[in-house]
Amino acid sequence: MTIPRIRIGDTEIIALTDGAGTFPFTSREAAFPDAIAEQWAAADRFDPGAIDAEGRWTLEFRAFAIRGPGGITLVDTGIGPEDALATWAPLPGRLPESLAEAGIGPDEVDAVVLTHLHTDHIGWAVVTEEAVTTSGDGPSSDRGPFFPNAEYLLQRREFDAIDDLNPQLRASLIDPLREAGRLRLLDGDAPLRDAARVVATPGHTPGHQSVLVAAGRESVLITGDLLVHAIQALYPELTYMFERDPAEAKRSRQRLLATEPGSTRHLATSHLTAPFTRAQTASR
Ligand SMILES: [Zn+2]
Repeated sequence: MTIPRIRIGDTEIIALTDGAGTFPFTSREAAFPDAIAEQWAAADRFDPGAIDAEGRWTLEFRAFAIRGPGGITLVDTGIGPEDALATWAPLPGRLPESLAEAGIGPDEVDAVVLTHLHTDHIGWAVVTEEAVTTSGDGPSSDRGPFFPNAEYLLQRREFDAIDDLNPQLRASLIDPLREAGRLRLLDGDAPLRDAARVVATPGHTPGHQSVLVAAGRESVLITGDLLVHAIQALYPELTYMFERDPAEAKRSRQRLLATEPGSTRHLATSHLTAPFTRAQTASR
């Protein structure tokens, strides 16, 4: 199969599928309470694959690899294995197979950017030891990093909100990363390497971050959950029900989705049907 990818300068952004499923919590209309019929119609033209025959929201669960001269960075780690916390998603995910299809071994990944601490983005970050492909003699817990040579990058603001977001993650994610000496906390925007950098995009969660790969007038924004549905790509002002700070989320979206005339911004999204789309807002 062909792996979807975009090249920006000497850097490749590779889309990696972990799974696909149906939004289980409410109707999609309730998930975006301010959206009106004509906005839904525009979103369904933009992303016809995101609605099933019963009118339910169908979504992908995706991660992205950035492969450049300096090494391989992974952005997010999907829904995870059979025993992962994202029990509302179609477990187990298939990220290890997607990585293999892209020719990437877990031990070749030397940086993992966690956009935020929701369970459908951290699934393969830390796994029970028998699932770790290359184990060292480090961690005393029975869980360890799935990417044994990677530094894991999280915003300090997100880390500080962990008890509010999901206290279970202290034991299942943070402690194993710390024991392995693999967690690095960031304070806002930060350079990654090659043409890539981390940009703080708070709102969906307090310390949400995205990754921007830019060369000349072309860029790829790996969004995380800056937007979760095509309707927010077209109408950045629309709130999603699980946003912690809707006003801040809207400001982050409007800032990152605005493109200068003559420049192209590709969006590499977690949950839209197509892994890559163009930024094109329809806001009034
Ligand atoms: Zn998500």
